Amino acid sequence: MRITQSAKLADVCYDIRGPVLARAKELEAEGKHIVKLNIGNPGAFGFEAPPEVIAAVVENLQRASGYSDSKGIPAAREAVARHYAGIGVAGAGAEDVYLGNGVSELIQVALQALLDSGDEVLIPSPDYPLWTAAVSLTGARPVHYRCDESAGWAPDLEDLRSKVTPRTKAVVVINPNNPTGAVYPRAVLEQIAAVAREHELVLMADEIYDRILYDGAEHTSVAVLAPDVLTLTFSGLSKAYLVAGYRAGWMLVAGPKQDAREYLEGLEILTNMRLCANHPAQHAVAAALAGPQSIQAMTLPTGRLGAQRNRSLELLAAIPGVSCVRPEGALYLFPRLDPDVYRVKDDQQLVLDLLEQQHLLLVQGTGFNLPTTDHLRIVTLPPVDVLEDAIGRLAAFLSGYAG
Ligand code: PLP
Repeated sequence: MRITQSAKLADVCYDIRGPVLARAKELEAEGKHIVKLNIGNPGAFGFEAPPEVIAAVVENLQRASGYSDSKGIPAAREAVARHYAGIGVAGAGAEDVYLGNGVSELIQVALQALLDSGDEVLIPSPDYPLWTAAVSLTGARPVHYRCDESAGWAPDLEDLRSKVTPRTKAVVVINPNNPTGAVYPRAVLEQIAAVAREHELVLMADEIYDRILYDGAEHTSVAVLAPDVLTLTFSGLSKAYLVAGYRAGWMLVAGPKQDAREYLEGLEILTNMRLCANHPAQHAVAAALAGPQSIQAMTLPTGRLGAQRNRSLELLAAIPGVSCVRPEGALYLFPRLDPDVYRVKDDQQLVLDLLEQQHLLLVQGTGFNLPTTDHLRIVTLPPVDVLEDAIGRLAAFLSGYAG
């Protein structure tokens, strides 16, 4: 008997954990050491959870064995609401906060509750590919708007505007962006909000890297700029608090909620259906938000993340035909391989060849829904010596790459 997969999965693609990773696992099973720079998982690179975050979970563990309220425990939701009210999101209250098993779960809840087959969602290209996959899974159509590498990967607003149709329901902003590291200027966010306002779109803002900023970059939450647009802001503990494995994320609904009663009911139905987010980890949320924000020192040039990013940029710049926009946030570099130097037809094959030859695992640009085959994403979480070795392997590979 042949058991087949659902047709719903036909367009669902998540290459960060795709076939190249499967091959890396086979090589590891054969005893090879693979340098894995493919996933933004701080715990895998020796980053330790802030002690106050661990303590909050440990102290509450005995009280956290039951299901919680499906939207999450009050203390965590109040802390999230206080945070957003503090940065200027109008009307943010605990009842507007939903806790989830990471942002990943909440993205899917938010999209499933909104979309019908044939609807469209505007998503940046390149994107964190869960967004595209999760829209496809609803039966709706992901429509990519271009981000412009020559403008520091800022969204191309003309392209975005040109892609709005009567079926467009939402526009996604990933800021700071994964994979590009772009941090969007206020004026760009204002213009995206203006498009949402004009066409009555829901704004979905994935801001999971909002506290991972370099070179004095400042982050603006788009919800602050658009109090009259229904805005869903997503963030959590995976990156800025280094506990991706806790699966602790949140979503804040802001803006004209009176116009979105039916949609909010849909969110309630779906969050009720999954009962609740991991309860012990919910106790980490208030402690994390009230804690000393140790990530900030790490992103300075003298801090671990800042030093790793700067050294990686320096090493990439020394490889012929490779250039890289300086990321202002997040945990990645997204270098470009000059197509006149490296004629890459299939970038998945390129990363497979790199894996086979150098035992280095990266993710190809098309894995982030980039239409061209001339980019790679490098995770900058490993210590400097590992990054030096990895980028050395990349340089050696490229020097012999015939395309
Ligand atoms: N959003 C972006 C932009 C990400 O890069 C990631 C993980 O890499 C996620 C969401 C997933 O976050 P979580 O661990 O909260 O599910």
